[in-house]
Formats: sequence, C-alpha cells, structure tokens
Amino acid sequence: MLKKVNPFKVALRQLDECAEILKLDPNVHAILRVPMREFHVSLPIRMDNGEIRVFQGFRVQYNDARGLTKGGIRFHPDETIDTVRALAAWMTWKCALLDLPLGGAKGGVVCNPKELSQAELERLSRSYIDRIWQYIGPEDDVPAPDVYTTPQIMAWMMDQYSKRCGKNRFGVITGKPTCIGGSAGRDEATGRGGVYIIRRAAHDYNVNLKKATVAVQGFGNAGFAVASLLRTSHGSRIVAISDSKGGIYYDFGLEPMAVSEHKAITGSVVDFPNTRPISNEELLELEVDILIVAALENVITEENAPRIRAKIVAELANGPCTPEADAILHGNGVHTIPDILCNAGGVTVSYFEMVQNAYMYYWDENQINQQLDKKMTDAYLATLDAARKYNVNTRTAAYVVAVDRVVEAMRIRGWI
Ligand code: NAD
Repeated sequence: MLKKVNPFKVALRQLDECAEILKLDPNVHAILRVPMREFHVSLPIRMDNGEIRVFQGFRVQYNDARGLTKGGIRFHPDETIDTVRALAAWMTWKCALLDLPLGGAKGGVVCNPKELSQAELERLSRSYIDRIWQYIGPEDDVPAPDVYTTPQIMAWMMDQYSKRCGKNRFGVITGKPTCIGGSAGRDEATGRGGVYIIRRAAHDYNVNLKKATVAVQGFGNAGFAVASLLRTSHGSRIVAISDSKGGIYYDFGLEPMAVSEHKAITGSVVDFPNTRPISNEELLELEVDILIVAALENVITEENAPRIRAKIVAELANGPCTPEADAILHGNGVHTIPDILCNAGGVTVSYFEMVQNAYMYYWDENQINQQLDKKMTDAYLATLDAARKYNVNTRTAAYVVAVDRVVEAMRIRGWI
C-alpha cells in the first residue's frame, strides 16, 4: 500500500529547491509559496430520489503575474484543497514554461461522477458555476476539463455562465465541444503534446520509438491519446494498459482503439480478450522502454521508485512522482519527462481555443498541431538549456525556467 503524500507539500518542496538554485529573494519566495486567492463553496444538489446532498467545491487562483489564470476542474471523490492548490501552482509554472500569457488556477468538486446520473451531474456542474461565476470569466480565470470532467460538462458550465451574464460567453471555458467554440485538436491535445516531447526525448536517450515497448497507467483522455498516437504514428508496442479498476498485459502489443471500445462498453480495460490481468502497481514496475503515467498524483514514491525499470517515465499526469522518487529515478538513470512539460499540450491548445474564441475565427487541426509542436519543442529546448546551465535534472530545470519567468513578470509589474 503506497503512503499518502500531500501534493501541495510536494509542490512547495519543488518550488523551494528551485528558489535555492535561482537564489530567489526570500520575500519573493514567500509570495510564491501561497495561492493568491481561493474559494471554498458548498453545492446543495437535489438528487433524483428527491434528497438534497451537499457537495464541496474549490477554485484556487494561484498566481496571475503573467496573465489571467487558467486551469482545469476535477470531479473526484478524493479531491482535497491541497490537491487543488498543488495543481494550481503547477498550472502557474506550466503556463510560464510554455510561454503562454497566462497564470495558473485549478478547481475541484469532491464527488464520484460514476455514481451520479446525467441529470445530477448537470445540476452539480451548473451549481458549481453559480457559486464561482463572479470570480471567473474570459478576462479573469478560464477553467477547462481535467480528471472525470468532459466536454459535455464544459458545455453545461459555459451555458450556465452565459445565462448568469445574460449573453453568450464562449470564452469562459475551454475544452468545449467544437459546435460551441471548442478547438479542433483539443480532445487529444494533452496526449499529442506528450508525444511531441516523448519523440524528442526518445531521440536524445537513444530509444527507437518504432521498436519501443510502452506501458500506460490511466486510460482516460490523456492516456488513451498518448497510447493511440504512439501506436499509430510511431508503431510503438503498447504492452500494458490500466485504469482505476486494474490493468491488462499483452506482450505482442495492444491496439489502444480496440481497448478503448471495450472500455466504452464494459466501463474498464479489465478483461480485454486474450490479455493477462496485472495490477496498477505491477504495471509501473514493468521492464519497458517508456512508462506513461496518466492517472493521478503520487503513484511513484520512494517505496516503488527503486523497482521502476523503464528507460523513460513520461508524466502525462500531474505530480505522479514525489521528490524522493524523483531523486531515486535520477540516480538509477531513469529519464523523467516532468509533468509541467510533458502534459502541457492540453493547456496550450486550450490557450489556442481562447484566442480563437476571442477572434471568432477557427483554425483547422493541422494548424493547431503545428503550433502545438512549436510551443512544446521550444519549452523542451528551454528546459534542456537550463538543465545544462544549472547542472540539474529536467524537472528542476523546467521549474527554474518557469519560476524565473513568473518572477520576471512580478518584478516588472512592480510587485516586488
Ligand atoms: P480522465 O478522467 O479522462 O482519465 C483518468 C484515467 O485514470 C481513467 O482511465 C481512470 O480510470 C484512471 N485512474 C483513476 N484512478 C486511477 C488509479 N488509482 N490507478 C490507475 N488508473 C486510475 O483524466 P485525464 O484528463 O486523462 O487526466 C489524467 C491525468 O492527466 C491527471 O493527472 C490530469 O491532471 C492530467 N492532465 C490532464 C489534462 C487534460 O487535458 N485532460 C491536461 C494536463 C494534465
């Protein structure tokens, strides 16, 4: 059983390390250690059986020095304010690393959407917006989908916000369906952006993607897209896939699309024909070229890090490795592609969606993917430069680039 780790403590330790390297003024460091603003809301929802249940929701706006805040909304039973704070801090660094003109935020509702009917889910989504609508907006704070939230949920939320404003405000939220202002390519952007970075890292670390074996933990938006693109665009062999109910292994290689169809029917990847069942823990420890972690935070800790045998760990999830695990992986020669770089494709295409909404002019998927590739590549190269300059691992390097940019904006605005 893995030990529970507080994600915000992890986020602060990463920041502290970076502050030391950048020799940050202690006053500036102190400002960066606390969220700028946060909202705690209660959401009384009439359930289908007539009862009222009160759910708890959060929105944290961490830092807006570089621009209005941006970050997804999670619906998850284990959501806590510290998870949301950590995710909001990571969004701040991620937007800065990708050089997007945005700050960082995150939202969450403590609930299990799998136990809610569609009507209950809609009431919950609308109620969340009712509670925070004065504090978000196309020029203030723009949410997006994250774990267990979907384009449909984004559509309800945008609609509720528009009703509150008395006019259409498509730009309040990204990750919408394309018929109401969503961007081409947003659905698979997180996975696609991850693949752009994995492609470069594989080249730099001598892994041939055509022959590479891959294990994927988490088979939702991010995990499916990355598995499917690695398979179809690069010919990689996806030997294992898991979700919250368990995992499957097939040495000759799984077809992600077929597994996804099975999951759509049965609710899980488990019991996909001709595969051997494996646990999530076993999957992480497989001897593969590339391990994709695309579920939740803190899945690799000091307990299991010594047993990780992948050559490359690609962090599609936010915060999947604790700092202790990071040090162990680095010491063992495992190349980690840090979350704020690896999964930044989602927020990057969300930013493109905001631009398209503002201009009311929409790009095709090729244009989106080209722009995404450029943004991801620039961030990758900036990270490598910082790693060389400061002689640090890629995670610390990514942080150094990002935090330095946020601090520069704070300084130039006269905050410090
Ligand atoms: P999702 O809800 O679409 O999918 C989550 C997947 O993880 C599901 O397959 C679920 O079964 C699985 N899962 C949940 N708990 C698990 C567990 N304990 N063990 C194994 N699998 C488990 O979510 P998503 O949007 O794909 O997000 C996944 C990760 O990627 C999260 O950390 C999220 O913050 C991060 N992320 C997502 C985006 C995005 O655009 N969707 C962008 C950046 C980062």
